[in-house]
Amino acid sequence: MIPDIIWYWQIVVDMHISDKQTDSKANRLIDPFNRKIEYVRLSVTDKCNLRCFYCLPKHFKDFEQPAHWMTFDEIERVIGAFADLGVAKVRITGGEPLVRKDLPDLVNQLSQLSGIDDLSLSTNAVLLSRQAQVLRDAGVSRINVSLDTLKSDRFTQITGGKLQPVMAGLMAAKESGFAPIKINMVAMKGINDDEFEDMVDFCLEHDFTLRFIETMPIGGVGVDASQYYLSLKQVKNKLADQYELIPGVMPGGGPARYMQLKNTDLRIGFITPISQHFCETCNRVRLSVDGTLYLCLGQDHKYELGPLLRQGISDDGLKNAIVEAIAIKPEKHEFRSNPGQVVRFMNMTGG
Ligand code: SAM
Repeated sequence: MIPDIIWYWQIVVDMHISDKQTDSKANRLIDPFNRKIEYVRLSVTDKCNLRCFYCLPKHFKDFEQPAHWMTFDEIERVIGAFADLGVAKVRITGGEPLVRKDLPDLVNQLSQLSGIDDLSLSTNAVLLSRQAQVLRDAGVSRINVSLDTLKSDRFTQITGGKLQPVMAGLMAAKESGFAPIKINMVAMKGINDDEFEDMVDFCLEHDFTLRFIETMPIGGVGVDASQYYLSLKQVKNKLADQYELIPGVMPGGGPARYMQLKNTDLRIGFITPISQHFCETCNRVRLSVDGTLYLCLGQDHKYELGPLLRQGISDDGLKNAIVEAIAIKPEKHEFRSNPGQVVRFMNMTGG
């Protein structure tokens, strides 16, 4: 009798576990290279209030028409479908996400979706000082700020904007309790390669995490990226002359490989899409403001969800479309072997 009861209980437990797996949305998004897609980078606008010379040409005006922007409700539907398929992580980006009107309302909607447990934001921080607290209250948990220089004049040369509001935005983010705050610095030969140590000191002082990024040949912005490309191996060697670096770890660190400054909490990440690409572990797709799903930052493979939404696709149809899209995710980018290939600008794909 007793063994029968145990056997019966085991079945009940197994059923419960399998229900729970359905509840917790077991991931159905496996691409042809056996990579689990767990992360969506969501571009809420292709507009930007800066013009970083390596990202977007100065006089670029060919932005998506507002009529084609996904509404907040459409975005919520698509991200909800991803969540049902097992995606738990979403990063809001752009363009510059803070120029999208009422962004905290969208954050509120997304943070209430069942299954989404990590909602983060990438910003240039120009508009952050007034929005930091409200974004945090709405549900943004982590924040990345792009900052290539600490020198005012140089900031203007690189971005066309002013450094002061960015600094104010960063301090507001700190006061609002965002942690970690990651600084993303594109390392560029002859442009900011005399500032790596200053940036390390700045991040130490403010308890920020620092990440260096290699320049990618994206968008054909009218400047030859190879002129200022710097392998991060050189950056690491330069820092190792000055500081004692030990291997570091960072939860949710993405493709960055981390070192830590000995006897401090400072972590320094190195994101090397060119010198040591990480495509074999790529777990992400990018959703643009018009609902186009880009399967790779460096390839043209895409799937247009926007028209399907406007044609009234069902929730199941939407999920099937996403599964179909993942099936065309390419194996890798070709930034190195075919550097002239990508014509899309970063603001369009969602950086
Ligand atoms: N506006 C937001 C920001 O500044 O973080 C999000 C969008 S921005 C396009 C995202 C990141 O892409 C920034 O850190 C920017 O420096 C980086 N980026 C743009 N073009 C790049 C390129 N050609 N190579 C490397 N990084 C690039």
